[in-house]
Amino acid sequence: MTENKPENKPKRLFIKTYGCQMNVYDSDRMADAMAPHGYSAASGPEDADLILLNTCHIREKASEKVFSELGRLNEIRAERQARGEELLIGVTGCVAQAEGEEIVRRSPEVDLVVGPQAYHHLPELVAKARTRHHGLGAREAASAATRDGRVATDFPGIEKFDHLPLPRREATIARGLTAFLTVQEGCDKFCSFCVVPYTRGAEVSRPVTQIIREAEALVEAGVMEITLLGQNVNAYHGVDDRGRAVGLGDLLYRLADVDGLERLRYTTSHPRDMDDALIAAHRDLDKLMPYLHLPVQSGSDAILKAMNRRHTRADYLRLIERVKKARPDIAMSGDFIVGFPGETDADFEETLSIVREVGYASAFTFKYSSRPGTPGAGMTNQVPEPVKAERLDRLLALVTTQMRDFGKACVGRTLDVLLERKGRMPGQLGGRSPYLQAVHLEAPEHLIGTIQPVEIIAAGNNSIQGKIVTDKEPKSVSVHESIALLQP
Ligand code: SF4
Repeated sequence: MTENKPENKPKRLFIKTYGCQMNVYDSDRMADAMAPHGYSAASGPEDADLILLNTCHIREKASEKVFSELGRLNEIRAERQARGEELLIGVTGCVAQAEGEEIVRRSPEVDLVVGPQAYHHLPELVAKARTRHHGLGAREAASAATRDGRVATDFPGIEKFDHLPLPRREATIARGLTAFLTVQEGCDKFCSFCVVPYTRGAEVSRPVTQIIREAEALVEAGVMEITLLGQNVNAYHGVDDRGRAVGLGDLLYRLADVDGLERLRYTTSHPRDMDDALIAAHRDLDKLMPYLHLPVQSGSDAILKAMNRRHTRADYLRLIERVKKARPDIAMSGDFIVGFPGETDADFEETLSIVREVGYASAFTFKYSSRPGTPGAGMTNQVPEPVKAERLDRLLALVTTQMRDFGKACVGRTLDVLLERKGRMPGQLGGRSPYLQAVHLEAPEHLIGTIQPVEIIAAGNNSIQGKIVTDKEPKSVSVHESIALLQP
């Protein structure tokens, strides 16, 4: 019998993902990068050999939350060490980027700290960390000097995508019919409330051929809907294989030609980067879903200026008019911040009025909280907490009504629904409408992985219900051999 040495044992990876879809995408890529090195998914931190906290810096006190989570994980590690087992702990994502060596200083047990642009180095950093453990013993490793190769937070452009593997087929099948695909990272806009330009660096875009190859690999594994991601996705400016500049609109036309890819979406956009080609793509491409997430943040010009948004309320409204002219059935989604420094009652009323004027199908509302290092944090005219809370409640009530009204307005309409999974009730399936609404309906399981015409018969707070229209041909049906495997 061969001795099962620790380094030969199958290893398990647990990634805890915080924050946005870009972190979800990055976590999948990190799992794909570690798979050839013997790491498969752990069911939780308790049975993992490697735990990564893929962190987000957007929320208030983000780093404090990471340090308290590290404290909990260290208890698990102590138990594992008592049993003579190895457990590596790493911090990745925006907190890793922003705090870097501070994490190792305050939490010396951490084995690796990896910023978002260095994920392709993850396998070698893990290998080095394991060597340190075996060479020094965990206790000594923990007390080793700070700068010992544990921290990788440089910004080497977008080179990581040249080295990260394509999404693994088996993992993609397990992840389902929809997938994220990051096409752009970083941001040059420097909105005065936002940490992204500091944590993710300047805008960088992936080359077109690399994106198409990744989309084809996803489709080959059964994916039918891809959401293109970027911190400022419509600032995408890649190059094709002939060295020609390609914007997001042009990229969408090229992706729409990928056989078997049925639906395209993109998020998150800045109003300044909605160019003619992108608006034309909304007009021309059936595969591009009629749903646009276009944050405005405030309806007041004074606040937009203080936020350094570089557009006015009128610019935003004009833009929506143009998009709606190109694609009349488009549903709008937005982000709003209330209580930015200096926001008066009148400014806030302007925000309520722009929400009424646009009419949103979905919206994300936030109370302003300062982020260290951003210009907003240094502003002296901060709005008192109770005022912010009261404004947030009023805005939330308005957008919730609009979202419900949008759902109700769909009742009686027939929408193409991508059937994604079994529902909670027996005989029920769950899917997504073109407007990103969750749809529930009764339908046979073999229809998972198809797009069906569904008549909407009722609308709830968070989802709509429908029934398949049987006298109409399905708009499109993708048949991939992997679909059977997708069914839970
Ligand atoms: S455009 Fe978006 S990501 Fe860029 S600074 Fe503004 S809010 Fe942050």
